[in-house]
Amino acid sequence: MYQALVIDKDETGYRASIKQLDDDNLPEGDVTVRVDYSTINYKDGLAITGKSPVVRKFPLVAGIDFAGTVESSSHAAWKPGDKVVLNGWGVGETHSGGLAQRARVRGDWLVALPSRLTTRQAMAVGTAGYTAMLCVMALQGHGLTPASGDILVTGANGGVGSVAVALLSKLGFRVIASTGRTHEAEALKALGAAEVIDRAELSAPGKPLAKERWAGVVDSVGSHTLANACAGTKYRGAVAACGLAQGMDFPGSVAPFILRGVTLYGIDSVMAPKALREQAWARLAQDLDLAKLDSLVHEIPLAGAIAAGADILAGKVRGRLVVNVNA
Ligand code: NDP
Repeated sequence: MYQALVIDKDETGYRASIKQLDDDNLPEGDVTVRVDYSTINYKDGLAITGKSPVVRKFPLVAGIDFAGTVESSSHAAWKPGDKVVLNGWGVGETHSGGLAQRARVRGDWLVALPSRLTTRQAMAVGTAGYTAMLCVMALQGHGLTPASGDILVTGANGGVGSVAVALLSKLGFRVIASTGRTHEAEALKALGAAEVIDRAELSAPGKPLAKERWAGVVDSVGSHTLANACAGTKYRGAVAACGLAQGMDFPGSVAPFILRGVTLYGIDSVMAPKALREQAWARLAQDLDLAKLDSLVHEIPLAGAIAAGADILAGKVRGRLVVNVNA
């Protein structure tokens, strides 16, 4: 038997609850994992509350990521005792997920835990931090270096944003952190932000082009914020867009692209190819200041995950929520 956060939807409605399941409830897959930690990402909040149709099969165990130890495997790459991380691939959406003490998945979806990280640290990173790394890799792949200019990080107190701030500052970039929680400015500066701006500067409708302020952007917010971030990007700069915390719309103009040669990179973590994931996790183990990562963590037990799902959507979570599924 194992405990899991199960999403049900039937004629009585949509609900999340902690249940005791037996092994018959484990889904199809060639690797069974004893989960140590999972997390609450923004998407988990949407899944737990039912605010967006993230979960598309019922009943389903929530949780888009986990880290743990292989218990049994018929997949050639994995054997019992291996430490593994999983992000995305529809886990927690169409395949039962990581907010549980056990999970069964396809071995092809797993990444080996980098030896420098514990399973707890891997979930302190979580899908949010792994996505932040994909954004940073896109900006570096574009050719941006600290000499290119500042990097804007939006949603800076959130999961993607806070890991992006820590990563970019460790890499030597000057980071401008945009946040609605300016009272957390000192925490953002401790994380590595050189400058903190109020997100209200970016969240209202703006002009097609604005003063060139940053060479690159990590945006987890979307909507007017993304449009204004593009409008303020320097000539031949780059914007990595991964999120929609303000909205899914993109009410911008083509001006930054056709007049300033700005490039907009779309970042998807869910179906990212395995080689890119392995590169991102290796880079996280190498480039992330683990003391700073630890300062972002708030650990909760599995029973706290339901309330936490609503909290993250309400913007009440700072940094990363790590779920100890065995607590
Ligand atoms: P968090 O809730 O931790 O962070 C989101 C942050 O966005 C908040 O902390 C807040 O930052 C800011 N924000 C929230 N609401 C608004 C608003 N109305 N206007 C402007 N800013 C706002 O979520 P995550 O970091 O887990 O995820 C961030 C986004 O990235 C989500 O949309 C998520 O779906 C997406 N995502 C996408 C992935 C992909 O594969 N493309 C993978 C992972 C995440 P502050 O308080 O500093 O203002």
